[in-house]
Amino acid sequence: MNASELQVNAQRLREDIDALAQIGRHEDHGIYRMSFSPGDMVGREWLRRRITDSGLTLHQDGAANISARLNWDGKTPGVMAGSHIDTVPGAGHLDGALGVVCALEALRTLQEEGVALRRPLEAIAFTDEEGRFGGLFGSQAVAGLVTPEYLHNACDLDGVTLVDAMAQQGLDARDALHAQRPPGSIHAYVELHIEQGPVLDRKGVSIGVVDAITGLFKWEITLSGAANHAGTTPMNMRADAFQGLAEFAGQIDRVLEEYGGPRSTATIGRVELIPGAANVVPGQAIFSLDVRDTDDATLKVLGEAFRRTLEAIARRRGLMFEFAVLSEIAPVRSAAQVVHTIDQAVEASGLSAAHLTSGAAHDAQIIAGIAPAGMIFVPSKEGRSHSAAEWTAWADIEAGANILLNTLRRLAS
Ligand SMILES: [Zn+2]
Repeated sequence: MNASELQVNAQRLREDIDALAQIGRHEDHGIYRMSFSPGDMVGREWLRRRITDSGLTLHQDGAANISARLNWDGKTPGVMAGSHIDTVPGAGHLDGALGVVCALEALRTLQEEGVALRRPLEAIAFTDEEGRFGGLFGSQAVAGLVTPEYLHNACDLDGVTLVDAMAQQGLDARDALHAQRPPGSIHAYVELHIEQGPVLDRKGVSIGVVDAITGLFKWEITLSGAANHAGTTPMNMRADAFQGLAEFAGQIDRVLEEYGGPRSTATIGRVELIPGAANVVPGQAIFSLDVRDTDDATLKVLGEAFRRTLEAIARRRGLMFEFAVLSEIAPVRSAAQVVHTIDQAVEASGLSAAHLTSGAAHDAQIIAGIAPAGMIFVPSKEGRSHSAAEWTAWADIEAGANILLNTLRRLAS
């Protein structure tokens, strides 16, 4: 490692990660810090205390995003790093929390070392990344994407509205409309996160430099034929919806090979056959199709190719088909300047790294709409995430924290 590279206080970092990991933990060992739940509120209080204890400036915006600030003057565009401390139900201890605690540790280290910096720094924990009320709420508020309609419609699976959940904590959800940052006020954004996939673990490298976050489209497809007696309907007189689905599934590899890129994925994750009896020819097959790629044009071409394939199969088999678009998210490329700075920090550290893409959504994807953004990944043991089995080796966590620290130092210098 170059002598100029800074190092975080590994002991303090570990204590913070361990302390936060105990908050919202249930007997099943999973963590329950869904946004504005009791666990989340204790986690927020813990984070605010750690920020004030460190002598950094505490700030909370209208979307209840919590920040630590260093050298803040309210004028100079700052360098931001962060993630989220809310979790899915039964979560592991690193998804989101790692990025927040390491960003805080980076600011504490820069403050203690008295590093001369040209730009202010901010470590931020975004509200409801995981989606109790829809997801990516805090970062969308910062990016100016939260509207009164959004606030009006946001509710959880039990019908609790975001407005009520915030009011219960003494917060006014309408304040989120004022959490938007002025254009140009964020010089750069960096998010450290666990990979949540198996690539780095398999390769045995400590650091992933994220080139792009994938976009996706999700369809619900219905193939309709005729339900009939499995014994009395001859094979050549059937309109078997499942046979259509099976043929389509068999075409996925070909379509990806012909029209996709090297990182394209397509998944049928849910299938329902109607009526769904062993002795009845299925009259309807309803199934999901999730397609992802980091290139927008490739996603469009894949969408058309899958539609043509469905059409041809339906025509040949005497089936009707329709599909509903459930969601569409555009892919985002990391900012070249941020990727280059992360690469510099990696090179100076002498650590092993690999460039890769993110298959999951992150706050970085939203902030990329208003500021140059990039991400650093550390390995997830066997790719496990959204589970209590989530695990990253301490050496990798420390490596990731140091790369974040030295990336922020470079961006703020
Ligand atoms: Zn996350």
